[in-house]
Amino acid sequence: MDKKTRDKKGKAMSCSFCGRNYNVVKRLIQGDRNVYICNECVEACYTLIQKDNEKTSKHLTRKMPTPVYIKERLDEYIVGQDMAKKVLAVAVHNHYKRLASEVTDDDVELEKSNILMVGPTGSGKTLLAKILANILDVPFAIADATTFTEAGYVGEDVENVLLRLLRDADFNVTRAQQGIVYIDEVDKIARKGPNASITRDVSGEGVQQSLLKMFEQSIVNVPPQGGRKHPEQQYIQMDTKDILFICGGTFSGIEDIIKKRIGKKAIGFGAKGDFADNKSTGEILSEVKMNDLIEYGMIHEFIGRLHVITSLMPLDRDDLIRIMLEPKNAIVKQYQKIFEMEKAVVEFPEDTLVEISENALERKTGARALRSIFEGFMLDAMFDLPTEGKGAVYVVTPDVVTGKTQLMPRKLRKSA
Ligand code: ADP
Repeated sequence: MDKKTRDKKGKAMSCSFCGRNYNVVKRLIQGDRNVYICNECVEACYTLIQKDNEKTSKHLTRKMPTPVYIKERLDEYIVGQDMAKKVLAVAVHNHYKRLASEVTDDDVELEKSNILMVGPTGSGKTLLAKILANILDVPFAIADATTFTEAGYVGEDVENVLLRLLRDADFNVTRAQQGIVYIDEVDKIARKGPNASITRDVSGEGVQQSLLKMFEQSIVNVPPQGGRKHPEQQYIQMDTKDILFICGGTFSGIEDIIKKRIGKKAIGFGAKGDFADNKSTGEILSEVKMNDLIEYGMIHEFIGRLHVITSLMPLDRDDLIRIMLEPKNAIVKQYQKIFEMEKAVVEFPEDTLVEISENALERKTGARALRSIFEGFMLDAMFDLPTEGKGAVYVVTPDVVTGKTQLMPRKLRKSA
């Protein structure tokens, strides 16, 4: 008997996939420990993988909306912030274009562009990231950088955000690997002053280090149960190469760093010394550069992995009024719908909207304040609406907002 047709144990060699014997196939390739595959099975597997790749490519190409389309959809939900919307629309479009090009055989490699948004609290950073994921129909996860700690310390491991992404993708690893992760409050993990590296900076620099590994390509072991990593736990491996990371932070006080830089440049060119002083906070923020963020306390490598930096404007009174009225899910539209369901009407006159926006501005939390202000003065009326308010007209006056009077049903509508 020919020695090659039998393995070490004397068993006849055959393809472990189709079972065909050594002598009926052209080639039998040996794998690990008496495992074999024949040339025909290799070819069949190759065709299968190619088909999969074509499918993924078609899927991504079909799904890839243009920057104009992305911006228009963002406009439906987000007021103002035109620059940030444009920058994000282009970056996101290119990101998914890159993914589509990866699965075709092309020798030009497009680099991934993670994004950093700098802007005041409640100006729409999280909302932008959320709506983007929605438009693109990709899994989305949010994390707060302040909850993360360096491995080995009390707190959350950075990998947990990938678990959230996996959950959002119903544990489909391939889909999760093309999702969007939004990490909020990255300014809070800045190095605290120049001496921070002398004492171990647990919450800051170490977390930046862990995050930057994830931003680039890395294979991360994700604990399926969440929580802290445990040596005996089984992990799900995730490749972060195609995950788009968007970071956000208020970076309060960074205006001074930018102003100092712009001021210096302006003096150098013989311009007026008060050049930066004449600009609004929003205008100054729009000039933010990588070096300003490094001076603020972000480490060079961290910022270096966030290729696209954009800023959001502080919202003014008119923006807040538009936010109450215009987006698809605007708060005024939502109340009107609830009242309509009881055949009632609720009216918010112009001076009331001004009162609400001024109240919100005082709280210094941007548009985030709006919902809680509304909930405060609408509570009693909402309580009575299904029992006493059917077919009534409610007019919300500025005095209702300030708490001087209560919102009462004024009159019954004729049609009710
Ligand atoms: P942050 O910039 O702090 O991440 P968010 O995006 O979480 O702010 O905003 C909080 C809430 O305020 C949002 O859920 C949304 O209702 C509202 N909001 C903030 N900015 C805008 C905006 N530009 N357009 C519409 N709504 C906004």
